[in-house]
Amino acid sequence: MAIRTQIPLVALDRQHRAMGSELNEAISGVISRCGFTLGPEVEAFEEEFASLCQARYAVGVGTGTDALHFALRACGIGPGDEVVTAVNTFAATAEAIVMAGARSVFVDIEEDTFLMDVSRLENAISPKTKAVIPVHLYGQPVAMDDLWAVAQKYNLKVVEDACQAHGATFSGHAVGGLGDAGCFSFYPSKNLGAMGDGGAVVTNSPEIAERVRLLRNHGENEERLHLEAGYCSRLHGLQAAILRAKLRHLTGWNSLRIEAAAQYGRALAASNVLTPIARSDVEHVYHLYVVRSNDRETIRQRLAEEGIGTGIHYAVPLHLEPAFSFLGYEKGDFPVAERQAGQILSLPMYPYLAKSEIEVIAGAIEKCAK
Ligand SMILES: *Cc1c(COP(=O)(O)O)cnc(C)c1O
Repeated sequence: MAIRTQIPLVALDRQHRAMGSELNEAISGVISRCGFTLGPEVEAFEEEFASLCQARYAVGVGTGTDALHFALRACGIGPGDEVVTAVNTFAATAEAIVMAGARSVFVDIEEDTFLMDVSRLENAISPKTKAVIPVHLYGQPVAMDDLWAVAQKYNLKVVEDACQAHGATFSGHAVGGLGDAGCFSFYPSKNLGAMGDGGAVVTNSPEIAERVRLLRNHGENEERLHLEAGYCSRLHGLQAAILRAKLRHLTGWNSLRIEAAAQYGRALAASNVLTPIARSDVEHVYHLYVVRSNDRETIRQRLAEEGIGTGIHYAVPLHLEPAFSFLGYEKGDFPVAERQAGQILSLPMYPYLAKSEIEVIAGAIEKCAK
C-alpha cells in the first residue's frame, strides 16, 4: 500500500493560503494591464528587490542560471578564463561558467557549514583565474570577508550565487550586493519563488546592470538597436507581480524558517544526527535544513515510512557528475564534499511548518537510533 505523505519536503500551498486574495489580485492586475514581458511590474519588482539587497540595481531575467551566466559575461568573463566555485553546489553554478565559455575550478567545503572552504581558495587560483563564485548554500552566507581578501589580492571578480539565500545577511549586509554582482533564482521552491521560472542579477555597477539588460533581451538597447547577439531571457510581468506580492512576506517567512531551524536544533540535540551550524556573523535563512548522519539511508527510509518527505542536496559532488567529467577531476580530489554527499539529508523546511510536525519528524529520527 502506498504511504501518503503527511509532511512534505516542500509545501508551497501553505504560503499561498496565507496570502489570501493577494496572488489573484496581483495576477488579474497584470491581465488587465497586459504587460507580459518586462514592463512596469518587472521594473517595480526590480526596484523593490534591489532595495531588499541594499544594492543600486536589480535586473530581472528568465532563470537563476541565466542570472549567473549574464553576470559572469557582464564581469568580462569568457573563453580562456577560469572561475572558481564550491564543488558541492547545484549543477547550475557550473553550467553558467560553461555557458560563459570559461572553465570551472572547484574548491572543497568546510566540515561544519557545507560552504566553500575559503582557506583553500588560494590553492585553486592560477594565472587564468578571473572570478570566484561564492555559493550561499542552503541559505547561509559564505565567509565574505576572507573571500574578499583573496579576491582583492588576485584581482578577481566576485559573483555571488545567492539563489538559495534571499534576505540572508553577512555582518548585517544583505547578500547579493556583497560582490561585483549577485545572482538569484525565483524557482518556485526558493525562499522567494515565482509560479514558474525567474531570476535576477543584483549589482551596484551601472555598467554591469546595463550589460545584463542587453543580454536578457536580444542585445537590444533603448533605441531598439541590437548591439550584440544576446539571449531571450526576460522576467515575465505575471511572475514579477507574484514576486512583488510574495516579497512583502519574505522577511516574515524567513523568520519562520529561522524559528523552525531553532526548534529542530532543540528537538534533535540528543539524536544521532548532526544538525546544521550557523556562523555567528550571519543570518542564515534556511532555504534547506540539512542534517548529517552515517546512517542516512536508514533514517530516510524510516521517515518515508512515516510519510515524511526528505531530499538530498546534492547526492553527487559536481566533479563526479558526468556533465563535468571533462574537467578531469577524480574521486578523492574533494574528500570533505565526497564524504558529506553520503551523509547529508534535507528535512522538511518552510514557513508554516508546525511545531508539532517538527516533533513528529524528530521522534521518527530518534526511533532509528534504537
Ligand atoms: C536554484 C539554483 C540555481 C539556478 O536556478 P534556476 O532558476 O533553476 O536556473 C543556481 N544555483 C543554486 C545554488 C541554486 O540553488
